[in-house]
Parts: sequence; structure tokens; C-alpha cells
Amino acid sequence: MSTFHCTSCGRAIFRSEDILQRITLSSFNGHRAECYAIRGAIDAGSLRRYDVSLHEGWYCCRFIMMRMVEDKFGTGADLLVYSDSVMEVADGQAPPAPVSRRSVVKLGKRDHDAVISAPENQDKLLVVKHGAIWCPPCRHMDAIISRVIERNVLPDVRFFELDTDEEPAIAARFNSRAIPFFVFYFAGTQVKVELRGAQGVDGGLVGAIPEQALVALCQTLSARLRASRTAAAG
Ligand SMILES: [Zn+2]
Repeated sequence: MSTFHCTSCGRAIFRSEDILQRITLSSFNGHRAECYAIRGAIDAGSLRRYDVSLHEGWYCCRFIMMRMVEDKFGTGADLLVYSDSVMEVADGQAPPAPVSRRSVVKLGKRDHDAVISAPENQDKLLVVKHGAIWCPPCRHMDAIISRVIERNVLPDVRFFELDTDEEPAIAARFNSRAIPFFVFYFAGTQVKVELRGAQGVDGGLVGAIPEQALVALCQTLSARLRASRTAAAG
């Protein structure tokens, strides 16, 4: 027997005997969004609760569990916990030390517009990913963006994220009803972008984008925007 703990704070979330099955909600270019379907959590009443239209969710120190209200993934009324948000600890063992993770800066109504027009960001391509923590394709993109940042292949690009559940007013500036949705900015204004194979809405891109396509697009855009600025200045 074992218990599954939050990877951030180490708190016990559910027991192995509560696992109904392990499900892959979606997979994309080698990234898999996997969940445990569980029959119940330990002391779920003390987790922070929130509701959005598609699902209800619970937070530990970060998003930890959801139940779909619309059965988008064929998981019925099961409680779902993303497998990368918990770690298994055998009975009698101490939970391992919390994992620290590099995360992308999150924008909200307080700072979204100020960050886009901040002087230190004017010579960088800014990519804002609109998404939600429970959305499997958004999680694929989080993994891809973390790897791109880790490998430092795009030093002239800065990535940000916007939680569409928390910031509906900013999300509503665009007509995209689907996430992830990517918006690009340079020198304080939105840059309208097209990418073969990706759906475009209001100059942004909808859906998961393969790592190579994202890197190539950002490199091309960034080089073109900097060159046109240099030409304008000269
Ligand atoms: Zn936690």
C-alpha cells in the first residue's frame, strides 16, 4: 500500500487503493497528459475548491484534482488527478522533499498591459499563452515551453501565461473560444501571426503547436521584427 502526495508541498492527496484506473487524457508529439481516476481524496474538504463551466476543481498549493461537468474526456464523474502533480510514497516512508519547478511568469489584469509595454521587453518577442491548468493540450505546451526555456534556444523571446479562468476579461479581448491560444507582441503591440497547420483567430494561434514549429516561428518572427525596426531607425 502507498499514498500519493502533492509534489509541491508533500501533502497526502489519495491512497493507492482509491485508484480506479490510470488514463491518458491526450497525447501530443511525445507529451502525454495522464491522470489517475480516483474514488475519493484524503480530506478533500480542506482543499481549495473552485468551479468553472466545464469542470469543478480542487487546489492544494497548486491545481491537484478535477471532475469534469461536461464529459469531455470520457471520464464520467470520476475524480481526476494529473499524475505529474503527485508522487507515490510507500507506507511507512517519509514523503520526498518537494520538487522545485521553473515556471513561466503568469500575467493578470494588474500587470498584463504593463509587462507588454515595459521598456525592458521592447526588443523581445513576447509570447502569451492563454490557457487553463486543467486543459491537457495546455499542459503539453507547458512542457514544450519549459524545455525551450531550459535549452535557451530562443534568447530573444519571452514566454508568459494567462489563466483564462482567472482572467476572463483579458481572454475576452480575443474571439478564440479554444485553448491553448497564443498571442504574440513586439514593441508593445500585437503581431499578427500565421502558421501552416495551425488555426488562426484574431492574429493569434489556437491549439497545441509542435516544438520545432514553435521555435522556427519565433526565430523567424523575432529576426524579421528586429530587422524592420533597425531599418526604420536607420
Ligand atoms: Zn501541495
